[in-house]
Amino acid sequence: MSCLGRVAIVGAGWAGLACAVELVAAGIPVTVFESARQPGGRARALEIDGRRLDNGQHLLVGAYGETLRLMRRIGAAPERLFERRPLQLEFPGYFSLRVPDLPAPLNVACGLFGARGASLGEKLSAALFMQRLKRRRYRLLRDYSVTEWLDAEGQRGALRRYLWEPLCLAALNTAPRQASAQVFANVLRDSLGGGGDAADMLLPKADLGRLFPEPAANYVATHGGEVRLSARVSALQRDGNGWLLASGERSERFDQVVLAIAPQHVPPLLIARPAHEALLVQLADYDYEPIATAYLAYPQETRLSCPMLGLAGPVGQWVFDRGQAGGNDGILAFVLSAEGGWDELGDAELCQRLHDELVAAVGPLPAPHWQRVIRERRATFSCRPHLPRPGQQTAERGLWLAGDYTWGEYPATLEGAVRSGVAAARGILG
Ligand SMILES: Cc1cc2nc3c(=O)[nH]c(=O)nc-3n(C[C@H](O)[C@H](O)[C@H](O)COP(=O)(O)OP(=O)(O)OC[C@H]3O[C@@H](n4cnc5c(N)ncnc54)[C@H](O)[C@@H]3O)c2cc1C
Repeated sequence: MSCLGRVAIVGAGWAGLACAVELVAAGIPVTVFESARQPGGRARALEIDGRRLDNGQHLLVGAYGETLRLMRRIGAAPERLFERRPLQLEFPGYFSLRVPDLPAPLNVACGLFGARGASLGEKLSAALFMQRLKRRRYRLLRDYSVTEWLDAEGQRGALRRYLWEPLCLAALNTAPRQASAQVFANVLRDSLGGGGDAADMLLPKADLGRLFPEPAANYVATHGGEVRLSARVSALQRDGNGWLLASGERSERFDQVVLAIAPQHVPPLLIARPAHEALLVQLADYDYEPIATAYLAYPQETRLSCPMLGLAGPVGQWVFDRGQAGGNDGILAFVLSAEGGWDELGDAELCQRLHDELVAAVGPLPAPHWQRVIRERRATFSCRPHLPRPGQQTAERGLWLAGDYTWGEYPATLEGAVRSGVAAARGILG
């Protein structure tokens, strides 16, 4: 056994698996407990009516450096698994913008000035806004809502409607009037402000399970670790310098434990431990936002003009052409972020409205021959101003946290989850 003793990781989402990969790569054996039957958590593959799809359409960007690094480590080559394209926002009939692979801020300037559907005054104002932000190193004097921030910065018109607000909603999964301006500024810093290929869209060519969770679980298993599926941890107790973990009928001792679970799942495991009262008070203040993905199947040869299109509403937000990225020919995935009118519609009506809005945007299409809506009620935490975000260390030695909510720089994202898992592993190794 290593000098760090036995390490347990609770949760085989992207955070828990990133932590496990990093530890086994350093020669530390780990045991990962996952309550579900498959790894991946909120970014997992599903089998629906014989099709391999995802619990929700995901988009990654070139700035997801840690995710890409770990994918390479476990043999899941990003070059094979993603279709990489320059960031392109198309709202047919309304707006179009493409950000070329150039150093920042030239990339943004070229993208903005080449945009169609915005006035020259709006483009100039948006370019100056990005310049000011860069000069302030993307730090705001105070955190407030994205709506207040855009008002204060004079961002109006088409660029607000089709660039800043949709980017905020897509990245933070929180409506601009409630979303944290500082976290949005961090996202802009590492994507549009990152230069080169940081803003590129990485469109998955395979289902989410194959991108990371499944190869990561295999890597852990073949490097001296263990991933136990259908293994919910029901209790956690101090045992000398270590911890007793209860799962099913068994109780096992570990020297270190990483809780890599969503914030709403933390309290039941820590409620009996007074040392964590402050953390539990913080987490009690968290709100959550839903995301729905509506899959509509059209004839296999159906193709949109680009792999991701914006819809100008009133219901639709984004639609992904899964066939263009290399899988699921003819399947379009409509993504609906955060609370909105869509949430009150039943599945059949929602699909009909999305189909009608797409037809209004791109022209005639046959009726879909199959459809399915997947609603994730607590897809992400609501990324509000001043939200307290715990780090990896906790009030007790040998107990660590990982998970998207613990990576305070970012909203709930795969990259935030992965970075938090890597940071927890480094804390243990350090
Ligand atoms: C529909 C949808 C779309 C999204 N789109 C994007 C996107 O486009 N781009 C992006 O970057 N991010 C996106 N996200 C966010 C991203 O998926 C999450 O931020 C990320 O998956 C969170 O990973 P995690 O490991 O922190 O948590 P989780 O995925 O929640 O993992 C926690 C794991 O712990 C397990 N668990 C909980 N309690 C226990 C217990 N007691 N014992 C054992 N196991 C337990 C759970 O089953 C789960 O597998 C989206 C999320 C959703 C839901």
